[in-house]
Amino acid sequence: MPTTNQPRRRFLRRAAALVGACSLGWGAGCDDAGERSSATMADDGPATPRLPYRGPNVVVVRFGGGVRRRETILHSERTFCPFIYHELYRKRGILFSNVEIESAPGIETSHGQGTLYLLTGKYDQYEDISHKPFADRFEPKVPTIFEYLRKHYDIPEHQALIINGEDRINEEFYTFSNHHLYGVHYRSTVLSLYRFKTYLLREELKNPDLDDQARRELQARLREMEAKDYRTADRKVVSPELDRFWASWRDYYGASGLVHPRGDRVLTTLALRALRELRPRLLMINYQDPDYVHWGNPQFYTRAISIIDEGVRELFHAVQADEGDGQGHTYRDNTVFLVVPDCGRDNNPCMPVPFQHHFNTRSAHEVFVVAAGPGVARSAVPVDKKRQQASVAATVGRLMSFPTPHVEAGPLEELLA
Ligand SMILES: [Zn+2]
Repeated sequence: MPTTNQPRRRFLRRAAALVGACSLGWGAGCDDAGERSSATMADDGPATPRLPYRGPNVVVVRFGGGVRRRETILHSERTFCPFIYHELYRKRGILFSNVEIESAPGIETSHGQGTLYLLTGKYDQYEDISHKPFADRFEPKVPTIFEYLRKHYDIPEHQALIINGEDRINEEFYTFSNHHLYGVHYRSTVLSLYRFKTYLLREELKNPDLDDQARRELQARLREMEAKDYRTADRKVVSPELDRFWASWRDYYGASGLVHPRGDRVLTTLALRALRELRPRLLMINYQDPDYVHWGNPQFYTRAISIIDEGVRELFHAVQADEGDGQGHTYRDNTVFLVVPDCGRDNNPCMPVPFQHHFNTRSAHEVFVVAAGPGVARSAVPVDKKRQQASVAATVGRLMSFPTPHVEAGPLEELLA
C-alpha cells in the first residue's frame, strides 16, 4: 500500500531535478536542435562528442508475460528455470529475491507498464494515448536506457536492440520517450516478425516488373502494417544493417513464415542471429509466452518458463563461444545477463489456476532479479532486502557507465562488484 510520505518523496526528487535543470540553463522550453548533430550532452549537461563504447555488453532478459517467484526462484529443486537459477545465479551471479513493483495508486502490474518501468527506471501511471480499450499504447515521458546509452556513446541504432514477440504490437513502439532532450534521435531498434513482414513488403515493391494492380495491393498492405504504429516518428525504420539482417533471415527461413520457430523460441533465434550479425551492445529480449495462462491452462505457463530458460541457456553459450568480430568487440567474458520479470502474477486460491491473471495483487507486485557477468557481484545467498524493479535502469547505467539523470530508483548497489 502507498505510504504517506510517498508524494512528498516524489515531490522532493522532482524539485531537486528541476533545480539542477534550471541552474544549467536548460529547463523547460529548450529545443532539441543541438541533438541532431553528432555532438551531444554527456548527461543533461553541456555538449560533448559522443564517446566510443568499450564497456561490457548487457543482455536484459524480460522474463515476460508475468511470472511468480514460486515457479522460478523460490524452490531450488522445483524451479522451472533451472539454467537461470542454478547456472546463472548459483554458479556465477546474484539473485535479488525480494524485488517489487512499487504499490502506489495508478501503478499497474502488467506487461507494457512493467516493461516501461524497466526501461525508464521510473514508476508512472501510463495513459493509453489511443483511447482504445486494452490497446496499452503508452509513451514514456522520461528517457529509456537505450536513449541514455546512445546519447552518451557513439553506438549505432542497430546495436541498441529490443527483440519483441509478434502479438503485442503496442510494445513495438516503446523504443523512445517523448523527453525533449532525448527521444527518437536516440531510439533503439526492434527486431520482430512484424518488422520482417514490413521488410518483405518493401522488398517486393522494389520489383520493377510488378503490374499496377499488384503494386497497389502491396502498397495498401504496407500502409496497413505501418498504420499499426501509433508513434509516427518511428515509422519506416530502415537501415542497410537491418536490411542485410532481414535478407539473411529470408535466405535461411524463406518468406512464408512457416519454417522459423514459433512463440518465444523465435525471440531466441532472432537474438542469436542478432549477436552474430548486428553485434548489439545493449540487447533486451521481451519474452512473453507464460502469459498464455490467462486462457486457463497451467501447463502453458510452466512450459513457457522452461522455454525461456532454454533460450537464456542458448544465448549464454553463444556468448561464451563468441570469437570476437576482429575489430576489438567480443561477447565472451564481456557480457552481463540480467533477468527480470515484467510483472508477477496473482496467487488467488479461489481460482482453479491461482496464477491465471495479474490483477495488481500483492503477488503480482513481487518479482526478482538474477544477474551474472563482468562487474556483477557473486553471492551464494539471495539478497532478500526489499528492492525496486525500476532499479534495473540505473543498474544498467552503472554497468555500462552512462548517466541516468531522470530515473527515480537508484541502482541495485549489491549487484555492482
Ligand atoms: Zn497478462
